[in-house]
Amino acid sequence: MSEVQWIYAPWKIKHKIFILIFLPFVFWLSWYSNGGNSWTSSLPFSCKLHYDHARRDGSYLDHLLEIRLPRMNYSQPETMNLLRTDVAVLTPWFAPIIWDGTFNIDILNHQFKQRDVRIGLVIFAIKKYVVFLQLFLETAETFFMVGYKVNYYILTDRPKDVPNVTLAEGRRVVVLKIPSHARWQDVCLNRMEIISVFTKQQFIHEVDYLVSADIDMRFSDHVGVEILSDTFGTLHPGFYRAKRQHFTFERRPASQAYIAVDEGDFYYAAGFYGGTVDEVYKLANQCHNGIMTDKANSIEAVWHEESHLNKYFLNHKPTKILSPEYLWDNGMGVPEVLRKRRFVAVPKNHAEIRN
Ligand code: UDP
Ligand code: MN
Repeated sequence: MSEVQWIYAPWKIKHKIFILIFLPFVFWLSWYSNGGNSWTSSLPFSCKLHYDHARRDGSYLDHLLEIRLPRMNYSQPETMNLLRTDVAVLTPWFAPIIWDGTFNIDILNHQFKQRDVRIGLVIFAIKKYVVFLQLFLETAETFFMVGYKVNYYILTDRPKDVPNVTLAEGRRVVVLKIPSHARWQDVCLNRMEIISVFTKQQFIHEVDYLVSADIDMRFSDHVGVEILSDTFGTLHPGFYRAKRQHFTFERRPASQAYIAVDEGDFYYAAGFYGGTVDEVYKLANQCHNGIMTDKANSIEAVWHEESHLNKYFLNHKPTKILSPEYLWDNGMGVPEVLRKRRFVAVPKNHAEIRN
């Protein structure tokens, strides 16, 4: 009798198995999968799944219906006059080139504020480069994405040397310890791998956009949501007027970063680029793969990860281009086209600081 019941009433035993094995497993999985890193880590596993799902499935669209500009007062956009007559403001693939005078920041702020975007600023401070942190962070608080939620992701081998800088509400410093490399070239090359690993493991849960910046810099004028797009690259201050055959692309066909002399749109700087978290993951991952293939073939691209970034942007056109206002070096003077210098190199003694 009991045997018959066991065969035809399997829920009895399954019920016990469920309680004894499956429930503890669910709790363990919920704890383990969150890893304590993201703001969603306080949610149970099922809620987090629901959150991720809502972003991807149709219900996310309902939220977008609430975004609507208020009545605003600004001068009429011109159809028969150019915003700038001295510089190009559009690429042949319809990506805007961001110069002062081309955008209305109030309109953009209304759009981005209502989406409540969160921005991760990724900076590497390896070895002696920690000395640049203080000025970088202080000037970023004054000029970078003011009024927005910002995570400063500081990747460093010297967490103790990260200075204490007062931050506005909604902004925080996240110190991530990574090993250092003996050669400075390897520090630069390694940035792509580190960005791809941390994006997958952490950034994707915490921010909407990622901006990667050199640390030997200071902000000296407004840098806001006008830079945000699926992917953006910045025109290198040394080459924005140059012909493509003079760009310092990697010219050896053996390298994955190779670009022929009759190819190339712009020479992009590795010191300032970014995009959505998804797109930056793709970019960093692909550049890292190129760097590893080069390594296996005993070749190192002439300008390290910058060469690979330029190859990536040749094959995957950025959706926005930042003018050299967004990465300037005062050693190059101040040409008339440059109405603003927003992000400027801090002079350094290369030999001293890199060793
Ligand atoms: N970097 C670092 N420690 C080093 C070398 C480089 O942290 O010893 C990082 C740092 O973020 C720096 C970036 O890599 O801004 C690029 O190197 P660097 O600024 O020296 O290149 P440059 O702008 O002179 O071409
Ligand atoms: Mn630099």
